[in-house]
Amino acid sequence: AKKLGKNNYQFFTPEMNSAAQHYLKLEHHLRRALELDELVLHYQPQVKIDSGCIIGMEALIRWHNHALGIVMPDQFIGLAEETGLIVPIGAWVLRTACEQARAWQLAGMPIRIAVNLSGRQFHRFQDQRQLLDVVLDVLKETGLSPELLELEITESIMMHKLDTTLDTLNQIKKLGVRISVDDFGTGYSSLSYLKRFPLDTLKIDKSFVKDICTDANDRAIVSAISAMAGQLKLELVAEGVEDQNQLDFLGGQQCNYGQGYYFSKPVPAEQASVLLRQSVLL
Ligand code: C2E
Ligand code: CA
Ligand code: CA
Ligand code: CA
Repeated sequence: AKKLGKNNYQFFTPEMNSAAQHYLKLEHHLRRALELDELVLHYQPQVKIDSGCIIGMEALIRWHNHALGIVMPDQFIGLAEETGLIVPIGAWVLRTACEQARAWQLAGMPIRIAVNLSGRQFHRFQDQRQLLDVVLDVLKETGLSPELLELEITESIMMHKLDTTLDTLNQIKKLGVRISVDDFGTGYSSLSYLKRFPLDTLKIDKSFVKDICTDANDRAIVSAISAMAGQLKLELVAEGVEDQNQLDFLGGQQCNYGQGYYFSKPVPAEQASVLLRQSVLL
């Protein structure tokens, strides 16, 4: 900070100013992204490790903007949450993902579709009592079987406003929709919520899978999570599987499912359909 006088500081350096300008530009474009049809979903397979069959697809958002190019979610989800744009964007994601999953279901490929719900997105929805309504509407309009929809929440969701959150999740669960915990092991919540919340799946965060072949601590953590998930009758998906060695280790644990570049990067719907048709033949 540049000192201008006694107790006067100028906090904006030229670099900060351009970062702020970039943010404003991003916001300006994001406000119009939905109406201009600039958002796209890519799909990444979730694979049963022993058979190699695809059992699900995770929907991951991308933003194609004429001025900004391809923008990845880590660069705009935070902004979408701050501005509240995450509510309409999240509803669009849910509807588009469920339409796609319904199309796959009708084509004889009834796989699960996993949709991300960020913490701030969840609570914004919940404040407006919209989340349950949106899920209900989308299931009704698309005709997708509820058990083919899985909502990926994070540990942080379960730490805030415990009673209302639990209530909302129980209602969603009652519809038959599945609930999974994303990035499992990276949050600060206690394990007690694992029995308190209506969960179906844990997704081991990719940071634990990355060095699984060389790091004894990561192996111990993944083994422990696998054993626990087995006891609690929760399905377990390992994220960020990139090579055969990681897969071999995971296969030896009670970890039945994997997701990662080893199987496929997230791809557009067309390519995902090709992967699915190949998987049906396995
Ligand atoms: P996530 O839910 O943990 O998604 C997994 C991320 O890991 C994705 O990044 C995916 O492309 C990447 N990934 C998959 N396999 C591998 C691998 O083998 N190695 C490595 N290093 N990475 C892998 P992506 O698509 O950039 O998404 C980043 C995050 O943005 C997601 O993390 C999720 O938290 C958020 N996000 C994406 N789409 C949505 C959405 O529709 N709504 C909300 N609320 N958040 C979303
Ligand atoms: Ca996820
Ligand atoms: Ca994750
Ligand atoms: Ca994440």
